[in-house]
Amino acid sequence: MAKPKIVAIDDEVEFIGMLKDYFEPRGYGIEVAVRGAKGIEIVKEKHPDVVLIDLKMPGIDGDEVLRLLKSMDPAPKVIFVTAYDDGGKTKARLLKMGAYAYFDKPISSLKDLEDVVNKAAKR
Ligand SMILES: [Mg+2]
Repeated sequence: MAKPKIVAIDDEVEFIGMLKDYFEPRGYGIEVAVRGAKGIEIVKEKHPDVVLIDLKMPGIDGDEVLRLLKSMDPAPKVIFVTAYDDGGKTKARLLKMGAYAYFDKPISSLKDLEDVVNKAAKR
């Protein structure tokens, strides 16, 4: 079975570089964007299975990206990867809004993220 297609949106260039370096050699198609608006454009063009998004970004932030993605048909699964921490309040809100999962940054295990990406793509 083909590996899931991923789009990663994060204003941290080093972080999305690391995601690309992890997923690409493992056979995943992964496109990256450092701005929400550009990320949305790529999602519309590539129809990924899973979108990885940062929460805090200049311009369109992760919240708004999630809202826009949820209005798409079919909507890709959204996984947040963020260093933002307010004791779980934001996490709970985003999951309620329809995010599939939420990872804290720095990511302790890219393999865990990979597993959740695969799970999300199957749903
Ligand atoms: Mg950020």
